[in-house]
Amino acid sequence: MITFIDSHAHLNDEAFDQDREKIISDCFAAGVKQMVEIACEVEEWQQAFELCQKYEGQIYGAAAVHPINAVQLTEESFENLKKFLTLDVFKAVGEIGLDYFYEDSSPRALQQEVFEKQIDLASIIKKPIVLHCRKAKEEQDFSAYEDMFFLLKKYNLSGGVLHCFSGRKEDAYRALDMGFYLGINGLIGYKKNEDIRQTIKQVGLKYLLLETDCPYLPPQSKRGKRNSPVNIPEIAQNLADILGKNINEVADITTQNAKAFYNI
Ligand SMILES: [Zn+2]
Repeated sequence: MITFIDSHAHLNDEAFDQDREKIISDCFAAGVKQMVEIACEVEEWQQAFELCQKYEGQIYGAAAVHPINAVQLTEESFENLKKFLTLDVFKAVGEIGLDYFYEDSSPRALQQEVFEKQIDLASIIKKPIVLHCRKAKEEQDFSAYEDMFFLLKKYNLSGGVLHCFSGRKEDAYRALDMGFYLGINGLIGYKKNEDIRQTIKQVGLKYLLLETDCPYLPPQSKRGKRNSPVNIPEIAQNLADILGKNINEVADITTQNAKAFYNI
């Protein structure tokens, strides 16, 4: 059986409150043998820890404060975050970054401050970072990427992944230059994303991680429905088609990449 890792899931989302255990066992049955739970709100850190304990060796965690929740990073919660991140089940700091799409509710200056605090923490504890970057609503405003790379360069980091890659080609290559991976999910199958498909074709498998970002961003055939790690094989097949590769190779290489990145 082909096996996969979902490198980025939000299984603690309320969308899974009715059937979380069933979904997780369906994932294992579908060959998605390991998952990384991204806990990016203060109240999710403990839940993620419990999930990792319950599914030891199968679910790992990342913890941080997401840019759209930037106000949540107080002195007190930052101390708490440090405690969680010393635990071995938490393999990365994330997702962190800049989201200029939602700058009305989370101002740019605050996002940058909270981002930098968490990059600094990652560099001190030597854990990799899971990056979220979303451009502003204005068509040509890519300043979220400019600002993100500017801040990242100030620190000595232990690896990173540009999750949900949806940037320009130059953003992909700036991430690769830093030794980072790109996270690939259902949006590679959306009709409008031809530029992204062209970019990942050039980048190649060696630098890609498979993810769902569930419950968001289901693959094209399941648009409008709840996403879950069960859809990883479908996303892998989409990626295989784009790259002109066999799904076995996609599964093998992306699994190796995820294991190397998260140290699992
Ligand atoms: Zn996410």
